[in-house]
Order: sequence, then structure tokens, then C-alpha cells
Amino acid sequence: MREFFFTFPDGSLDYDCAACGGACCRGHGFGGARGRALTGFLDEHPALELMVVRAAGSEIDVATTRTGCPLQDVDGLCSHHSRRGLESLPTVCRLFPFDILRRVGDTLFVSPHHLCPLELVVPPAPGRVKGSHEALRLLLGAMEPEMFEAKSPLPSPADALAVVRRERLFLEHVTSRLGASRFLETLESLPSHGPGVAALAERVSQLLGLDPGARRPVFTAPVEAVLHALAPGLRVDMLHLQEPAALAALTITARVVFEVLREWRGPAPTLQTVHDIAWAQQPTIRLLAAWDELPRGVATTIPRDLNAEQCLDLGLMFGAFNQGRGGWERLSEVAEDRPRYVTISLLKDLARSAGA
Ligand code: SF4
Repeated sequence: MREFFFTFPDGSLDYDCAACGGACCRGHGFGGARGRALTGFLDEHPALELMVVRAAGSEIDVATTRTGCPLQDVDGLCSHHSRRGLESLPTVCRLFPFDILRRVGDTLFVSPHHLCPLELVVPPAPGRVKGSHEALRLLLGAMEPEMFEAKSPLPSPADALAVVRRERLFLEHVTSRLGASRFLETLESLPSHGPGVAALAERVSQLLGLDPGARRPVFTAPVEAVLHALAPGLRVDMLHLQEPAALAALTITARVVFEVLREWRGPAPTLQTVHDIAWAQQPTIRLLAAWDELPRGVATTIPRDLNAEQCLDLGLMFGAFNQGRGGWERLSEVAEDRPRYVTISLLKDLARSAGA
């Protein structure tokens, strides 16, 4: 029996292909398990067969041009879908945009793809929108077994059970407060949110030059709701973190989003906007929030005798990082003379080298 965990509140996400005009079919390609559905589909459409860019092992990848897939009509909709119905499409097309799959033990984590301009539905309407868990569960249940070969970040079944339980509780919590609470209040009301989380978030906010007390953007209410919907999905890349570090990372993420949006002059930011702002800083935020836990390859970059407190000092981090690149710079110089964008960029380099 396959278990699924949907990393967004049930019934909170919807989309409208007619209004979008087929963004997912333009230039991003598609792929999937080399099962009967996909190979039969390619047999039927020789133009697509010519666009196969990889057929290795159990997987096939097909390219699409930036102006579209050969099967798209002038309105951007899929002609195969219009003529033959949803059921005749390959699984990857039927599943999109809920096609980011990660296997954790025996549970498949299913997350939305934010290439799709998803709309947030508040209050959620399970059963009445496309992002309804039950409908997706039925679709996933009929998938080829090869689709379950997605990489697992947690090979240990014991860890996997604990992680799945933890993530389900987090999802339940944010779902119960979606549209009714500020995001940081929702995090603070979790039993696992202790004083250490706030202290860590403060230190990292200082490092990033964030000002938590600054004026809030005009779009506060919708953005607060969007953060609730996005947070369980962002946590999929934090499964290796202890809970305080994961909560600190989400706190910092919210602060980064609000600070960027303070300058926002365009139409109301969408779920996609908020996701993209949050996503851009995730490796840096994960690295800083989890600094105390980093036993991994960082040791080759950061001198072993720096303790966690020192590592949260930007000057020392830059110095250590530069040493990893072949020589110390004067710490006062690196700490004081760099503008924030250079800081952010260096931290991203560091996060990459640390695999955060
Ligand atoms: S990107 Fe989303 S809304 Fe647009 S066509 Fe694809 S599935 Fe539909």
C-alpha cells in the first residue's frame, strides 16, 4: 500500500489552463518513466519522438521549444488532451503541476511545481479544486511503479517514519490557521517552537541585514496566507534539519519575503511571486539556520576550530570561506567593506559548497 503526503493544505491550490495558455508546455520539456503510457504516447506522435533528448534506464526526457509543444493548439491548450481526454495523456502531463515527487521511506511526498501560476484558495475547498488531495491520490494510485523510484533523502526507515509524522503534524497546524493567523504567529504557536528558534532567527536576520521591525508591505494579508500554503513544501528540502533549525529557516524566509515586498510596486504578488522570492534564498537560509548542525563537507571549507557562535559572524565566515579558496583576507575588511548583495552572493557560494 502506497502512502502519499501532499505538502500543501488540501483544497488550497487551483489553476486555470485556459487563462494561462500552457506555460508548462513551453520550453521546459517533460519526462517520465519509460512505461506503456509514455512510450505509447510517443509512438502516436512522431514529432515528439524526434524531440527525445534522453532515454536512459527507466526514464525518458522530451524537449519542448520555448514557443511551445508541437501538440499545443493556437490557444495554448493541448490538442491531444482536447481530442482524447485527460486519461489518455502520459502520467507526467496528467499529474502536472503536482509532480515534484520525493520518496521518504514508504511515503511519497507530492509537491506542486511553481512553474504553474497556481492560485491560493482561502478558505480551502477540498473536493472542489484541482489541488484536492483525494483526486490526486486516485491519480497517483494508478501510476506506473517506476514513478516511485524518486530519490529518497532519508534512507533509514526509522528516521523516515519520524520525519513523515513530523511533517504531517506541521501541515495540519498550518492548515488549521490558513487565512486566520499571521505566519510567524502560526510558527510560534507550534509546541516545538522554543526560545532557541527565536534567538537563532534573530542572529541570522542580523547577519542578512533584515529589519523585522520595519514597516510591513501593503499586501500583508494575502502574503501571510501564501506563506502558510508554501511552508510545508519548503520544508521538503529541510528534512535533514532538526526542528528548531527548520522553524528558524521558515522565520527568516518570511522576513526575507516581507523585506523584498516592501519595495513592491506592481500588481498584488501572487503565490508564484512569493515562492520565487523565498526559493531564491533557500540554500543560504538553510545554511545559516542549521549552522550548529553542519557536520558535512563544510569541514574542508571552514576551519574546524571555529565554534557555532563564531561561524555566525560574517567576517569569520567569509574569512574561513576565502581560506577554503586559497588564502585568508583580513577579517575586518571582509566584514565591513562588502555591500549586502556581495554578502548574499558569498553566502550562496558557501551554501552550495556546504550542500545546504
Ligand atoms: S502551467 Fe498550470 S495553468 Fe498553465 S497550462 Fe500548465 S497546468 Fe495549466
